[in-house]
Amino acid sequence: MADVHDKKTRSYNMSRIRGKDTKPEMLVRRLLHAHGFRYSLHNKKLPGKPDIVLSKYKTVIFVHGCFWHGHKNCKYYVVPKTRTRWWQKKINSNKINDQQAVKALRKDGWKIITIWECRLKPAKADATLNSLLKKFS
Ligand SMILES: [Zn+2]
Repeated sequence: MADVHDKKTRSYNMSRIRGKDTKPEMLVRRLLHAHGFRYSLHNKKLPGKPDIVLSKYKTVIFVHGCFWHGHKNCKYYVVPKTRTRWWQKKINSNKINDQQAVKALRKDGWKIITIWECRLKPAKADATLNSLLKKFS
């Protein structure tokens, strides 16, 4: 099948994308790519090593795992019952790092988009990705 993309095939693409690779970050990358965006990945020179960097738009995207980044009030953020304190410390330090990265990036004029993994689950992915695209239109 030809690999041609346009707006009409967006929802088709999304379902196809999901079947191919369910890694949340890949969903976002494939969508952006299919819509002609060019990006770099995991830029170590930027605070927080953003997952996706859209230099042209001076925008970075973080795709956050709900557990590792402590997504508040999220069902996927459940601190394990064993070594609970250790996990809490670990996740809290991740959150602090995230906040510091956001501050530093903002200071340098970057726009920051954070996408939580739970928003990329099958039931919500289309809406999440559509609203992401809208930010650039
Ligand atoms: Zn979540």
